[in-house]
Amino acid sequence: MTELKLAILGTAGSGKSSILVQFLQNFFIEEYDPTIEDTYKKHAMIDNQTYILDILDTAGAEEYSSLRDSYLRKSAGFFVVYSITNRGSFLESKRFVEEIHRYKNKTVFPIMVVGNKTDLEFDRQVSQNEGMDFAKSLHCSFIETSAKTNTNIEKSFFDLVREIKTY
Ligand code: GDP
Ligand code: MG
Repeated sequence: MTELKLAILGTAGSGKSSILVQFLQNFFIEEYDPTIEDTYKKHAMIDNQTYILDILDTAGAEEYSSLRDSYLRKSAGFFVVYSITNRGSFLESKRFVEEIHRYKNKTVFPIMVVGNKTDLEFDRQVSQNEGMDFAKSLHCSFIETSAKTNTNIEKSFFDLVREIKTY
């Protein structure tokens, strides 16, 4: 059994907590306290191997948090989440990827860039290609998800773990 620490970063409102709740408990919450920063554990069987995923859900990056600091140091992989309906959240993703690279002192690290809220196609402000190109330019993986319709949520976690394994 392998324990892996993961952390979810991204602009407030992009759907970090919703993605995590959908992955952990298979339901969608309309309102989740945006100030909660906490860690959650889940057992997952991925490619015939059992993992304990120990996941930090971040909130409000502006103040120093020792929990966040410790997880950024220890995490084996990261999600950087933006909303496809919010161009600003996409532009801010770069800052989060750079923060991880700085913490790890590496320019290549297992990071999954996540374009969330694909159920809101009518409100899309960031194309899938832009998301892909951005991720590629920073040597990250890329996936689009919807926490609401549970699209690609499990896949995003499994793919990140596979990437950690081969890193
Ligand atoms: P966080 O601040 O990044 O943790 O974002 P939350 O998970 O709290 O989500 C912010 C808002 O976006 C909430 O109202 C969620 O219900 C909503 N939301 C999150 N993911 C999705 C999604 O995939 N589709 C839609 N339509 N709404 C979402
Ligand atoms: Mg949250």
